[in-house]
Amino acid sequence: PYDECYVKSVIRTVADWPEKGVMFRDITPIFKDPKALRMVTDDFIQRYIGTDITHIASIDARGFLISSIMAYHLNLPLVLVRKKGKLPGKTIQADYALEYGTATVEMQIDAVGPGDRVLIFDDLIATGGTILAASTLIKELGASVYEAAALIDLPDLEGSTRIQDAGIPVHTLLAYE
Ligand code: 5GP
Repeated sequence: PYDECYVKSVIRTVADWPEKGVMFRDITPIFKDPKALRMVTDDFIQRYIGTDITHIASIDARGFLISSIMAYHLNLPLVLVRKKGKLPGKTIQADYALEYGTATVEMQIDAVGPGDRVLIFDDLIATGGTILAASTLIKELGASVYEAAALIDLPDLEGSTRIQDAGIPVHTLLAYE
């Protein structure tokens, strides 16, 4: 069963990275710990069994790690939301402001289409900019967003509220104040 204390004990906080003042929540130890990885992935998988989700849109790069396991177990197509310049072929882009700096995300134009109901997955929600940019791309391709899911929410940065205000349900497993 899912044990929040255990998962929190595995996540590492790195102060002043990648720049001063940021408390970076490092999830890489989860991938070194099969028990923790199984706990979090199984919890997400259970949530989405039997839903009418048609695709998982996975966000570059830490989002890829958990959502690819989810896609395998849910037998769903996985599509990638990548940082600019990484996807070949025809793509669409959306710019957004990050917790630190600005960035652009891209999707291939045949990733999703009209009638598709897409689950967006990332490791963490800070300002919500990344997930909102991903949702802009998904809607531009004619699909709808089922929900945005992430392992961690940073509620003080109000990203999950911004995403919900945009009409997208949000599901996260852990919060760090
Ligand atoms: P947002 O767009 O919501 O402001 O930022 C979320 C994005 O930045 C996610 O893709 C996430 O990977 C990355 N990010 C921002 N802060 C952290 C952090 O403390 N830990 C981790 N693991 N990722 C972060």
